[in-house]
This record gives sequence, structure tokens and C-alpha cells, in this order.
Amino acid sequence: MGRCILHVDIDAFLASVEQLRDPALLGRPVAVGTGVVASRSYEAKACGVTTAMPLHEALRRCPELVVRPGDARLAERYRQRVAEILRRFTPVVEVCSLDDFYADLTGVPLRGEPVLAGGSAALEERSLMALCRTVRAQVRAETGLSVAQGLGATRTVARLATTKAKPGGIWEVLPGQELEFLAGFAIDAVPGIGPKTAAWLQQVGVTTVRELWAVDRELLVRSFGGRGDEIWHRCRGLDAAPVQATPTLHSISRETSFEPRAEVDSQQAPFLRSMLAYLLDRATSELRRQQLFARTVQVRLRHVDGVLGERSRTLAEPTDRTDRCMAVAAELLDELLLRRVLVRLCGISLTSLVPPRAQQGQLFGDDGQAARKLFAAVDAVRARHGFGALVLGDAAGLLGRVPTGKHGFVLRTPSLTK
Ligand SMILES: [Mg+2]
Repeated sequence: MGRCILHVDIDAFLASVEQLRDPALLGRPVAVGTGVVASRSYEAKACGVTTAMPLHEALRRCPELVVRPGDARLAERYRQRVAEILRRFTPVVEVCSLDDFYADLTGVPLRGEPVLAGGSAALEERSLMALCRTVRAQVRAETGLSVAQGLGATRTVARLATTKAKPGGIWEVLPGQELEFLAGFAIDAVPGIGPKTAAWLQQVGVTTVRELWAVDRELLVRSFGGRGDEIWHRCRGLDAAPVQATPTLHSISRETSFEPRAEVDSQQAPFLRSMLAYLLDRATSELRRQQLFARTVQVRLRHVDGVLGERSRTLAEPTDRTDRCMAVAAELLDELLLRRVLVRLCGISLTSLVPPRAQQGQLFGDDGQAARKLFAAVDAVRARHGFGALVLGDAAGLLGRVPTGKHGFVLRTPSLTK
């Protein structure tokens, strides 16, 4: 069965966010940017304002233009809300750049199938168009934003279909119609063909996708390496790149506090190292449960004088292995312990979480395979007998010093990911 990929692009994103924040701007030409236009409302577009245009030029063309610096945090909240709406239809949602998303709808059961079959209305209802109209309505109702949507068998086709759907529309390229659809596009519209590649192709007389078909695959590979092969596939609607679900979690944190004067142990480096190992064990277990890898490990210590020390390090390769994270965390702890003031709290965070799919190259072949089996076995035992059934590595230093239960060590103030 062929794939079905939906590409969604928010219309005039940053300018729309400004209009939603300040309804007095609705219906007026608005641009967001400093120096150049990063985003403009459709009212501004009607006056000839385009993205990447210098602001002074934009104001010359459209004197009534309202220019705002934009609000990145507010925009991020809107972006996450659109991603959440898309996740109602499929778990495989990739949040791309500032304002666009891919969703893999392959095999998604279509709702709203009519009872009467055969008529043209029935055919329409069974297509993915109905789903797209629902997406559009929900985004509009819950955020106030307008989206354009493209449907196709590959990322490239879906994304180019969106350009035909702007603003606010839905454009579906049916299976088998990819070549006809792609033929007329200018080469620089194809994702992955940057200005340099486009300039090179234009020099040899290639300006449209149809003309690109005539260029020998070998020549593209010789000129652009692996990217050349990718271009060859993309311009034929044959690119197989999957939609990669963007994790909804940003970080996994675990921390606990001490009563420094009552718990004398807690102030010794070996104890802190053991506690860190235990917190990390808990965090990496959760990481594996969520099927994610972490790129960055952070350690923090809060001292009795209120000073918070934080250190973080990015790993050579993202991992979900407790031992790899602990090796880094132990180094960070040593650096933090140079400050000789009583410690009230210690915590760790795993951040820059990525799906393991991007890591598959490293999963096989090396000693990683054995480690993965080991941690899978650890996770299985704990799922059955409780987290406390096994104590790993340096965490053993807590035995006899911290009370234990079925669910592991009983910490004073356990704290989960916020
Ligand atoms: Mg957009």
C-alpha cells in the first residue's frame, strides 16, 4: 500500500500570531521582523510586501504597515497547539521549521464514511479531504490560525502540494499523478535544491522539474554526491524519507533534596555520586519507556546558601543507556563539587530528546547490541517485580543508607518530570 503524507503550513504565521494577540490588527497589513520582513499578513501581501524584503522597502510600498518584533514564546505555544491537533489524527507528526508540519496518514482509518456508497459525495467523503477539512476547522476554532494543507505519497509531493493550497486550502495529489504534478515546478521550489544547486542546474539549462528528468543520474551523483541521488528521486516522486515523529517531551528530570545537617552521609561525594546514579537510573528507564534517546545530560546541585550550580554536557552520540549517561554525569558532579558548601538538593535532566530511528545506524553491530539487551532485561524485571527489584552500578552505594521499598529507594522529596 502506498504512503499518504500530509504537509501542513500555517498561513502568515508570525503576523497572524500578532493579529491574534492584538485584535485591533485584524484586517490590517502587519509585518513581523527586524531589518527584514520575516512574516507578513495577507493584507500586507496585497500591498506588495513580501518575506525577506527590507523593512524600509516594505514601509515605502505600504506606509500603513504595522511592524512588530514578534514574540517567539507565544509563537511556540501556537505551534505546539497545532501539533497537538494533528496528533489527534496520527501519532506520527513531525514538527519542522517555524510553521510547518508533516503527518504520516498511511493506514489511518477514515472517519465520517457515509452510509450510502457509490455517489460522488460518498467518494469525496472517503478521501482524506474530509480529514483535512476537519483539521482545518479544528485549528481555526481552537487557535484562530489558518492552515494550508498538501496531500501526497512523498514528503516532496505533499510539501509542493501545500504551495498550491495557500492560503487556507487543501491540495491532494492522487496516487499515480505525481509526475504530472511535479513536472511544471521550478527546480528551486523542490525541497533540497538550494540556491547553489539551482544555479548550477540553471547554467546547464535546467529550470523546471520536467527538464531535470533529462539529467543523467550519474551526473547528479558526481556533481552533488548523495544529495544528487536524493534530488533524482525527489523530482520523480520517489523519495522514501519517512516522517519522523517529533517527541512531545522536551526533557526528563529527577531530583531529590537533603537535610544536610541531619543526613551527614548526604554531604559526601561517594553518596552524592550514588544518588545521582539512582536518579539517572530512574530517568533513563523512563527514557527507554518513551522510546527516546537523549543528547544532553545535565547535573545540578543546590547549596544551603541558595546558590544553584548547573553543568551540562552533550554526548558524542544520543543514547538511552544508563551507563553512558552516568559516565558523563559523574564528571559533571566532580566539577560541581569543587564548591565546598553543604548541598541541599541534587538533580539530573536528560534533554535534547530524539527518536531512536535517527540512530539506527549505531544500534547494530557494536557492543551496543549487548548493552541494549541488558537494559531491556533490566526493564522487564522491573516491570514485573517493581523498580526496587534491581539496583544498578553506583546506586548500590545507597543500600543500607536510604530506606528501600518495592518501587526503589524512598527519597525525601522525589520529583518527577514537570
Ligand atoms: Mg507559512
